[in-house]
Amino acid sequence: MAVDPLIELRDVNKHYGKLHVLQGINLTVGRGEVVVVIGPSGSGKSTLCRTMNRLETIESGSIAIDGRPLPDEGKGLARLRAEVGMVFQSFNLFAHKSVLANVSLAQIKVRGRKKEEADRRSRELLDRVGLAAQADKLPAQLSGGQQQRVAIARALAMDPKVMLFDEPTSALDPEMINEVLEVMQQLAREGMTMVVVTHEMGFARSAANRVVFMADGRIIEDRTPDDFFTNPHSDRAKDFLSKIL
Ligand code: ADP
Ligand code: MG
Repeated sequence: MAVDPLIELRDVNKHYGKLHVLQGINLTVGRGEVVVVIGPSGSGKSTLCRTMNRLETIESGSIAIDGRPLPDEGKGLARLRAEVGMVFQSFNLFAHKSVLANVSLAQIKVRGRKKEEADRRSRELLDRVGLAAQADKLPAQLSGGQQQRVAIARALAMDPKVMLFDEPTSALDPEMINEVLEVMQQLAREGMTMVVVTHEMGFARSAANRVVFMADGRIIEDRTPDDFFTNPHSDRAKDFLSKIL
């Protein structure tokens, strides 16, 4: 892929107390690329995601999104958060607001859109994730898979440059996993830049341009899915794959 970096991490280090949770991370994600991050529990995947939209600070190194260093605070930070969409394992929808209002809220507050304009965009996106008919319901009236698709629509409504997904299907019942992965597959096909932490190896094989394998706060392997799954180089990756495949 031609190098047009959208995310650039250079020698990123972070500790939690004595735990060196990110140890000299170097990672470039090109525009339109889909990077799947895998690795054992506790290896730093979630922390890595959270540093990319500045939910966590770093101690040294640098992170840039679309050529701009991450801002420390203020308006720059709000803009960054809008540009870097994030979807977590837990959907974090507002329980007492309708699905439509959940998708519209930040558009109005952060993007400064008028309610009518925000609602129009929300309905488009709800249609795109297959939830046009659910717009007026409350989150609790939806299944987990549907709620996660609302969370994806909500992030997309900010017109992000990149979408980060941190184990978006881990909290879902098995029969709901595919409906969420299909929405993500579609986004990938449309050219969205994505960083996806997941244990769904089928998704990694079919959607990822690269698989990044993390262990103990380091990136151990960073290769194409075909290459990684058929011929993992490190013992850590071999061991990990033998447990999950
Ligand atoms: P992963 O997502 O790969 O499971 P995490 O990034 O969540 O890993 O966590 C990496 C390590 O950092 C783990 O040992 C975890 O216990 C620790 N950790 C994560 N968040 C915090 C925190 N806020 N304070 C202290 N330790 C943390
Ligand atoms: Mg995690």
